[in-house]
Amino acid sequence: MKRILLCILCISSYQGYSQMIDQGFLKLDSISLNAQAETIQTIIQKQTKDSLPHVFMTQHWDTINFNPYDEYRQTYPFGITFTDTTYASPVAHKKVVTSRYGWRNRRAHKGIDIDLVTGDDVMVMLDGKVRAVRTFPGLGKAVVVRHDNGLETVYGHLSKQTVKVNDVIKKGTVIGKGGNTGNSTGSHLHLIVSYKGVYINPEYLFDFTEENSIRNQEIWINKKWVTPYLHSSNRQTSIVIATTYDEAILNEIQQKKIYIVKKGDTLSKIANKYQTSITAICNENAIMKTSTLRVGQQLVVNK
Ligand SMILES: [Zn+2]
Repeated sequence: MKRILLCILCISSYQGYSQMIDQGFLKLDSISLNAQAETIQTIIQKQTKDSLPHVFMTQHWDTINFNPYDEYRQTYPFGITFTDTTYASPVAHKKVVTSRYGWRNRRAHKGIDIDLVTGDDVMVMLDGKVRAVRTFPGLGKAVVVRHDNGLETVYGHLSKQTVKVNDVIKKGTVIGKGGNTGNSTGSHLHLIVSYKGVYINPEYLFDFTEENSIRNQEIWINKKWVTPYLHSSNRQTSIVIATTYDEAILNEIQQKKIYIVKKGDTLSKIANKYQTSITAICNENAIMKTSTLRVGQQLVVNK
């Protein structure tokens, strides 16, 4: 029962749940299904209700705090649904990603950097409603926009904000001018994508090429896509989209490999080999960076 409840609590939409049943993920016998029908129905109704656009646009609507979901605990994987197939580019020129979501100088870089010149227009990527127009520590002048599917996009280091809180805007609307405010070296856009306060690797949802495509109408997110130390800010992680709950679970399992330590191995060598970070290996295996590796020791690594 634990597994059933877990996956039901993870779903963000009734469609997701139907899909799970269609694909036989919920292997319930009819007796236990009947016994639990009322409870399940209640949970689905709540999940569906919690995912309606008007809920996103009213609940946790906070024009001051950067993260109004402080108390919220996300379960994984969770699904996000898009009605559009493309987004509007946040910059008018070719998008050059100068730093990616991931580990950078031993710190988490929880967004992507897109090159621009101070004064360039910055556009909102999807239809939405402006939740905050403020100066935040590190981020400088920023605009936070919430979208109908619960996603938030944040545009940081701006030189000027040109929208107001509670403005309802269409994708492609200019929300400000690019700049270099906050903790930034050189003009660029720091773009954050989050869902209920959880930062997501933007490249998992959006393809930052000329196509401006949203990678799928339904995208399921497991822990890999929210964990910065599993990515390097220097290169794009190879992206395999999960379009169902099952795929997200499967991808998570397939991403892990057992590595057997050989003579001469160091954490740095192993991290390089699997294009991951020492921090990721240490966290995954509950070891210290200073731990001595033994020949034959088994380590879980993320591929
Ligand atoms: Zn950045």
